[in-house]
Amino acid sequence: MNNFTFSRATDTSSALKLISRNPEHGTARFLAGGTNLIDLMREGIEQPQSLVDITLLPLSEVQQLPDGDLRVGAMVRNSHLAANALVRERYPLLSQAILTGASAQLRNMATTGGNLMQRTRCYYFYDGAALCNKRAPGSGCDAMEGFNRIHAILGTSPQCIATHPSDMCVALAALDAIVNITGSSGERRVAFTDFHRLPGDTPELDTNLQPGELITSIDLPASSAGLHSSYRKVRDRASYAFALVSVAAALKVDGGVIREIRLALGGVSHKPWRASVAEDLLRGKAPTPDNFAAAAAAELAPAIPRRDNAFKVELAKRTIALVLSELASGEGAAR
Ligand code: SF4
Repeated sequence: MNNFTFSRATDTSSALKLISRNPEHGTARFLAGGTNLIDLMREGIEQPQSLVDITLLPLSEVQQLPDGDLRVGAMVRNSHLAANALVRERYPLLSQAILTGASAQLRNMATTGGNLMQRTRCYYFYDGAALCNKRAPGSGCDAMEGFNRIHAILGTSPQCIATHPSDMCVALAALDAIVNITGSSGERRVAFTDFHRLPGDTPELDTNLQPGELITSIDLPASSAGLHSSYRKVRDRASYAFALVSVAAALKVDGGVIREIRLALGGVSHKPWRASVAEDLLRGKAPTPDNFAAAAAAELAPAIPRRDNAFKVELAKRTIALVLSELASGEGAAR
């Protein structure tokens, strides 16, 4: 591990002041739960010159806002968020997704803001001897012709086929969450689906967060509350494994027709993948297995599978159709 300076902020303005001493990418990092960053530093993948500890920031509350939205502070631990009574009652999809991720010990440490900032689990990214455009831009990508069973099939680029590892973020993408951000030039709100990036020609950038900016909270809109919803994670073993494919779905059927639908996929792209093609096809249609299968096929039509991950195309289609069919029949909903 390289040498670095360590400082501890007690409020948001002191955190911004401390990070602004060295705000360039790769030289300063906020430290929250540390469940991914510390691993990356131990492996020499991340080599910050400065760490600003933000664990004392007063951002650990879940509050109901006057307009009915729910605001989740960036320092709320994943386990607390999953167990929160308002979240379980109004957004059970989110609780369910969080509880499929990591282990109880990790969820006790990991924070809401940190969950958004975790980096891919591509093997080659963690292997300093491998070529990786995300770790060393312009060096190449050993996953392209290597062992790529866990890699992306949607939104890939010739530079990178990594996936985003989070379960929580897939639920947040489906729920139309908003990310609240603060920085030296003020505060801004970003739609969750615009927060993470596709790799394009800059795979080293995972998010649209600017250097020195800090996530302060996530807003869950009242309009997404109470929908019939479910999170399904398909993985190699029953616990402590990342998704090969996951589906976050919320549905409202009225008069035999789909009135509202929210659908997002995990394990298939560099960012949580909002399945808007399938949503558009299904809105206003009858909730039948044939319609669900056709919408899933349309969503996966642009998929670019590699040697070892072609199975994900069919797996994603079937999982989408299964989850939606279960929700439409009243089975399988998160509680
Ligand atoms: Fe690196 Fe992305 Fe290639 Fe993995 S897929 S080796 S993260 S460039």
